[in-house]
Amino acid sequence: MRKNIVAGNWKMNTTLDEGVELANNVNTLLKGKKANCDVIVCVPFTHLTSVNAVLEPELVKMGAENCSEHAKGAYTGEVSASMVKSTGADYVILGHSERRQYFGENNEQLLEKTKQALANDLKPIFCVGEVLEERENGSYNDVVKSQVEALFSLTPEEFSKIVIAYEPVWAIGTGKTATAEQAQDMHAHIRKVIEDKYGKEVADNTSILYGGSCKPSNAKKLFAKPDVDGGLIGGAALKAEDFMGIIEAFG
Ligand code: PEP
Repeated sequence: MRKNIVAGNWKMNTTLDEGVELANNVNTLLKGKKANCDVIVCVPFTHLTSVNAVLEPELVKMGAENCSEHAKGAYTGEVSASMVKSTGADYVILGHSERRQYFGENNEQLLEKTKQALANDLKPIFCVGEVLEERENGSYNDVVKSQVEALFSLTPEEFSKIVIAYEPVWAIGTGKTATAEQAQDMHAHIRKVIEDKYGKEVADNTSILYGGSCKPSNAKKLFAKPDVDGGLIGGAALKAEDFMGIIEAFG
């Protein structure tokens, strides 16, 4: 059966020292109180090796926030999936709305990134989600369906390694959370889209996380929904106590 997961996305925050301290604090809090879900911190490339050194892998797993669609070579400034894997990471966030919006990442590129991640034994946390206009004009189900379908050339075995994060763009960093009912409706829709392509077993085993202004005060209500298998957490992942408060929603 699918896993419950709480994953932090630190984005472009924290210096190396601050990041190591934050990771250490998360690790320490989890040592005191065992989590009822898998916990992941996704951190800047520059922090991966040092953060990995302070995390106990049975308590907290680590991921990157992106990787290249290329395996290696003359791509100055890029970081490959094999480089990420070599730091000790197990996960990589792909297709975050900030990457799609500010760096023009498209479905074709994201499929290539996903293939690179899988070829290097990294589990993609693949983000999908509509913008405000699409929520308001009612096209949100179709938009998210086509984002998920971008991965449909993967084999069932490959797809079963993917974690989906539904992050309505209008809820990211805005303080405006989707209601638990909106999240449930979309997560059930995504699971059906997966089922229609890969069958019920793959769909039932896919963890689908909610992201967008998730905090200790609203996590419990969101995670109580049957198709919401945890969260991808931005702002609230930058304070170990807040992150822990969200993890504890799985009480
Ligand atoms: C995110 O960017 O993945 C996110 C969910 O951000 P926030 O929690 O800050 O809305």
